[in-house]
Amino acid sequence: MKNLLSVQEQLSSGKANLKDLSEKYIEKIHSLNPEINAFVHFNEEEVRSNAARIQQKIETGTAGELAGVFVGVKDVICERDKKVTCASKMLHNFTSVYDATVIRKLRDQDALFIGRTNLDEFAMGSSTENSYFGPSKNPANTDYVTGGSSGGSAAVVAADMCDVSLGSDTGGSIRQPASYSGVVGLKPTYSRVSRYGLVAYASSFDCIGPFAKNVTDAALMLKHISGKDEMDNSSANVKVDDYVAAVQKDEGKLRVGVPKEYFGDGLDDEVRSIVEDQLKALEKQNVELVPVTLPHMKYGIATYYILATAEASSNLARYDGVRYGHRADMNKIEEELGSERQALKQELKGASAAEVEEAMSSLDSPLIRLYKKSRTEGFGTEVKRRILLGTYVLSAGYYDAYYAKAQKVRRLIKQDFIDAFSDVDVIVSPTAPTTAFKLGENLDNPLQMYLNDVYTISANLAGICAVSVPAGTHSNGLPVGIQFMGNTFRETDILRAAKRIESNSLA
Ligand code: GLN
Repeated sequence: MKNLLSVQEQLSSGKANLKDLSEKYIEKIHSLNPEINAFVHFNEEEVRSNAARIQQKIETGTAGELAGVFVGVKDVICERDKKVTCASKMLHNFTSVYDATVIRKLRDQDALFIGRTNLDEFAMGSSTENSYFGPSKNPANTDYVTGGSSGGSAAVVAADMCDVSLGSDTGGSIRQPASYSGVVGLKPTYSRVSRYGLVAYASSFDCIGPFAKNVTDAALMLKHISGKDEMDNSSANVKVDDYVAAVQKDEGKLRVGVPKEYFGDGLDDEVRSIVEDQLKALEKQNVELVPVTLPHMKYGIATYYILATAEASSNLARYDGVRYGHRADMNKIEEELGSERQALKQELKGASAAEVEEAMSSLDSPLIRLYKKSRTEGFGTEVKRRILLGTYVLSAGYYDAYYAKAQKVRRLIKQDFIDAFSDVDVIVSPTAPTTAFKLGENLDNPLQMYLNDVYTISANLAGICAVSVPAGTHSNGLPVGIQFMGNTFRETDILRAAKRIESNSLA
């Protein structure tokens, strides 16, 4: 399979050049993006001038290790002097003044950022339908969603509008759209990649990771974005393995755990049989399948939606209309307040001055009105739903019953994985219970939407790494993904397992 390393070889030997490659992608974006709606910001002149600058570096032998790599970036990761909207009206006019660490690292190696990609507002969702820019569509069939929340990042790679992309995964938002769109998507171990410059959704879950057309490209990207960062105290000071080498020459045996909990009710029959065929093939590829059990997995969705919404309600408190982001019209607020005062006065004709004053003081102040109105206008429905849920579970009366309890269950889920990884290298499952669903199908049913993440969410609760790799095509014509979960900092193991799926040519 042609990967980025071979493209780079052609570039350095002069058999290919960045001008042609950039024109190819620019043309593709012009022809496909109006329908797929995966890039929300793209500046072709900037792409051309960066391509010319990097081409020069290639010719003078001074180019970095990612020269020739065209990268799409989820619009939730800060790039200096670019809009970072999080697909929200709240930030539709916000421009970042700095680069996220992942962007700085890739830029230092001469990667070329080709455009900003669509997502569910503030990365909350599973379909990229909760976007200020409208939904992204699945390149395999545009009547269907491309998954979410990093749907734009999945679709730009699937539709060959760039080489690779960056997404973020809080409960499955890289792996699920990768599965729905037929590309590789990797969520690193929590803390493996710096979160500096990633707009926060749920800080104890959020991870940045790559989408790619093949496992080797994903390994290459991971190698360059990983590592300790002094700008993010939660980033881990653990050695970064040579992921590319690990997938390039791998003959070692792998013990793969098969958890029965991931093959139960709700799993589409055909998805099941595609995954099971892959398991049979793996047995011929120096893999030993071992039954394992993850008994607390069934509490994953409930636990996640308590903890993630709690963190979100706190993180999103910063959007108050005062410091940055959308601000409601202050003149209108003053006007409204004026007429409410007027109406009260009328109503209270004949009342004492003290009574009138008391009634007036029950009206919200202009500042409170500014907060309320800016947030009411700036946030979409799903984001509001999460803020309400999160505020509720953190409120004094319910904290112990929900938030504190969910923290304990999170620990039990993590312990399940610690126990399982004492016996196996990686754990396998379908990435999602079904293939992509039709646009609009789940929009009125948030619970059904949340169930899409039933297989991906546990990895975020446990902080472990996981990858989705294409496993086959359903009879409905849509891609099916298989997921490998690995122990903390064992990204090499999940990449090695994914590489075997890629090379057995069943997919
Ligand atoms: N779909 C999940 C949610 O809506 C996961 C989102 C994510 O990983 N960012 O919260």
